[in-house]
Amino acid sequence: MAIKRKSPRDLEKMAAAGAILVEVHELLASMVRPGVTTKELDTAAEELIRSHRAKPTFKGYKGFPATLCTSPNAMVVHGIPGPDPLLEGDIISIDCGVTKNGWVADAAITHPVGEIGAVAAKLLEVTEASLHDAVEQCRVGRRLGDVSHAVQARVEANGLSVVQSLVGHGVGREMHEDPQIPNHGTPGTGPILAEGMVFAVEPMVTAGREAVRMGGDHWAIYAQDGSLSAHFEFTVAITADGPRILTPWHERLRVAA
Ligand code: MG
Ligand code: MG
Repeated sequence: MAIKRKSPRDLEKMAAAGAILVEVHELLASMVRPGVTTKELDTAAEELIRSHRAKPTFKGYKGFPATLCTSPNAMVVHGIPGPDPLLEGDIISIDCGVTKNGWVADAAITHPVGEIGAVAAKLLEVTEASLHDAVEQCRVGRRLGDVSHAVQARVEANGLSVVQSLVGHGVGREMHEDPQIPNHGTPGTGPILAEGMVFAVEPMVTAGREAVRMGGDHWAIYAQDGSLSAHFEFTVAITADGPRILTPWHERLRVAA
């Protein structure tokens, strides 16, 4: 496994893609409400990305047909946007990638739709917090297992489950680069983190058990027991000055934590 390292100039290019992606997430956050369809969200996201002369990274990736992955409720990830309206009390994971000048940024947020129940609210809060815990470990000299363990520790301390078969990833010129970044692991193990590594860290968490199943469209992944699931993601760089979030949607949006 070779973990590619990016130069400071490369990071600026990734941050430029990330800035567009933050704008997309801001727009989508303003649109999420009961009655909106995920197809409407997808269309708006694609238009905004293309207005920046950037590309929706997901569209066409292994044949994926859309700009966004929109995954409601028990769907964990990889939902294809469609004509069904969001309903009051749903939660909806929105994942998006932007490619600008050949560099990729990747980020996801799970939104409440209107008023949500206590289980859903806790799930969102804990999952988002676990992402911030993971970012805190993205420092020169730490190990990859420290990042993974940070997610797991927060999630399990709150009685929730990390989906173990889905992982984060390195990101750069390609959306998926080495290493894989599990959301469970052992501190002090795995590759040593070094300046210029860039990770898409993405806790995927359920309120029930951790097992998942593939949907009939061969894209969507569901919690096997039908429990609610949440997903939050940043693209984060390891720099000499500490973690640098290249998709800082948290500075613009208050979601859960
Ligand atoms: Mg993503
Ligand atoms: Mg990702």
